Parts: sequence; structure tokens; C-alpha cells
Amino acid sequence: MDQSFPGTLQRWLTAPRVGALPAPAAMPAPQLSFEFFPPKTEALEAQLWACVRRLAPLRPRFVSVTYGAGGSTQARTHATVSRILRETTLTPAAHLTCVDASRAEVDRVAREYWDAGVRHIVALRGDQPPGVERYEPHPDGYAYAADLVEGLRRIAPFEISVAAYPEAHPTALSADHDLDNLKRKIDAGATRAITQYFFDTDVYLRFLDRCGAAGITVPIVPGIFPVNSIVQVKKFSAMCGASVPGWMDHLFDGLENDPETRRMVSAVVAAEQVRLLQANGVDEFHFYTLNRPDLVYAIAHILGARPASAEASAPASANGVVEERAAAGAASTPP
Ligand SMILES: Cc1cc2nc3c(=O)[nH]c(=O)nc-3n(C[C@H](O)[C@H](O)[C@H](O)COP(=O)(O)OP(=O)(O)OC[C@H]3O[C@@H](n4cnc5c(N)ncnc54)[C@H](O)[C@@H]3O)c2cc1C
Repeated sequence: MDQSFPGTLQRWLTAPRVGALPAPAAMPAPQLSFEFFPPKTEALEAQLWACVRRLAPLRPRFVSVTYGAGGSTQARTHATVSRILRETTLTPAAHLTCVDASRAEVDRVAREYWDAGVRHIVALRGDQPPGVERYEPHPDGYAYAADLVEGLRRIAPFEISVAAYPEAHPTALSADHDLDNLKRKIDAGATRAITQYFFDTDVYLRFLDRCGAAGITVPIVPGIFPVNSIVQVKKFSAMCGASVPGWMDHLFDGLENDPETRRMVSAVVAAEQVRLLQANGVDEFHFYTLNRPDLVYAIAHILGARPASAEASAPASANGVVEERAAAGAASTPP
């Protein structure tokens, strides 16, 4: 045989071997959490609640509600979190940011959350409103997330999550500075970090190693972003410093006008990512849902998450939330 042109089988047999992924049934179901954004319009409100109903039966550990850039959604975030508390058995986590607010204002919002029964805050510096280039702390405000965590600790014994950046925050002086900053947030009292999304699993695993070496022991929960549109993801990523590997471009190439195939490809990409993470011991996942449940539901299913009851698993069940509450013995008020 001509050794310079090995035959197909020989090529396969000499190619690098990929480590076996665990059999799904052999893995315990992971802990899940879901991120929603507060809706602006009635149509988006309906979309959010359909999403909540679809995902609630998976019994997430918590569901978080974002705070718009520049603190622009304060009232909507509050309303959404309150409704989740009132009408579901889910545990809400309210995002809270430092941008454009005095300490007194931020403290007031935090106290209102505590009084309303909210026990978990995702504490962030926050993004600037669109059009504002550079971050300037409010003269009487919390300058950075670590300061906010300290402030929240003084107000009430909240559970506090913070943001982490496997590829470093885009304005960080260096990756080491950014890791020091994460450590400061944990030392100030945060008990969990949730990562910016990433697509190369190695990037996250190397970051975990660096967190471990820096003495961080709290969970660094991977943020998983199932891609609906590569164009949109590239735009986001340019702003938030997450890289979009070339292989993603290649995978979505030619699918611009084919949403159905795009969704199938997205599901495969995210499923591969979570299975790889699971194979590396990760058993907690945070999903950026963009208030769209289907891809997240499918990926959670692949991870071994199952609905609390058979009826509750039906897509678009109008009664999902109420069924959940009834199952938990709560008085039922239709949403
Ligand atoms: C899970 C998650 C959820 C998010 N949710 C929201 C949301 O709801 N609303 C929103 O507006 N944005 C949100 N963001 C985006 C986030 O607000 C931005 O990335 C923001 O630019 C940084 O927030 P942070 O809390 O990470 O900031 P910080 O931890 O304060 O860090 C911000 C930057 O400042 C640097 N830094 C920190 N302390 C100092 C210091 N003392 N001196 C100089 N530099 C310093 C850090 O290294 C880093 O580069 C979220 C991000 C993630 C990962």
C-alpha cells in the first residue's frame, strides 16, 4: 500500500481519539437556573410568561431577571420579580446594578426586594445606557460590583451572585486584574459567580483552574447561551468581550434564511458544550434564555433535567405555573 496516501480506515484508526462522554442516564440531573429579561410590551410579557410556564416544571434552583443598561428597567425588573414571587413557586433572583444611581437609591431598591421576600440578588456594576462610551461611577454611588456586594451585606443576609468573565471583562487592565476583582467580589460576600457566555469549553475550564489557583472556592457557574442567530451573537460578543470561534461561523454559514436548520444546529452546539462540561464534572448551569424556552428546554432535557410532572411538560401549557403551585400546595391564582 502507498503509505503517503493512507486508506480511509487507516486514517480513521490513526486519528486522535476523543474521550468518551458520559452516558446521560449515568449522570445525576444538574442544578439549573434561567435568566429572563423584563418585558417592555404586552406581546413580550406574554412571551416571557409562556417561557416561565415552559421552564418552571424543570424546577430550576432560581430564575434571575435582568436590570436594563443604565438601570433603565428598575420598575419592570421589580414587577417581573414580584409576579414570579406571587404566582409561581420559583425562587427569583433580582439583578441590581450600580450605574447612574446613588447608594441611597440602590439601598432602597434592595430593601424593597428584601421586604417583598426576595432573598437572592445578582450584584453587578452594570452596563452604561446605549451611546455612553466610558463608565463613570455615580458621585454618591457604589463604584464597582465589589462595593455593591459589601453594601448589600450591610442591608440584609441576601444570597449574592456576581459576574465572572472566562475571557476577562473587555475593560479589564489584564486577565489577572480581572481575576483579582472576582476574588474581591467573593471576599466581600458573594457566594456564586455566573460566567459570561463562552463557546470554547477549554476557555472556561482553564478559567476554572485559574480561579482555583487564586483561592476561589465558590461555584463558577457556566452561563450557557444557545445561539438563535450568529449575527446577533457576534454583535453582543463584540461588546461583551466573548469570542466567537471560527468553527461557529463555519457551522452557521449559509443558514441566514433557514431558521429551522439554524435551530437544529444551535441545539447540537449547545448540547455538545453542556455534555463536555458535564463530562468535566460541572453540575450546575445557568441559561441565558432571552425569554425563549424551546432550545433551553431541549438542552436541559439532554442534561438529564425532567419536568416535575408529566402534564407540566407539555409545551405551551397554559396552566404550567398554576399546576406547579397547586402541586406544591399553594393557593392558585391564574396568571
Ligand atoms: C451573569 C451576568 C449577568 C449580567 N446582568 C446584567 C444586567 O442585568 N444589567 C446590566 O446592565 N448588565 C448586566 N451584565 C453585564 C455587566 O453589568 C457588565 O459586564 C459590566 O460592564 C460589568 O459588570 P460587573 O458586575 O462584572 O463589574 P465589576 O466586577 O465591577 O467589574 C467591571 C470592570 O471594572 C474593573 N474593576 C473592578 N473594580 C475596579 C476598581 N476598583 N478600579 C478599577 N477597575 C475596577 C474590573 O476588572 C472590570 O474590568 C451581566 C453580566 C453577566 C456576566
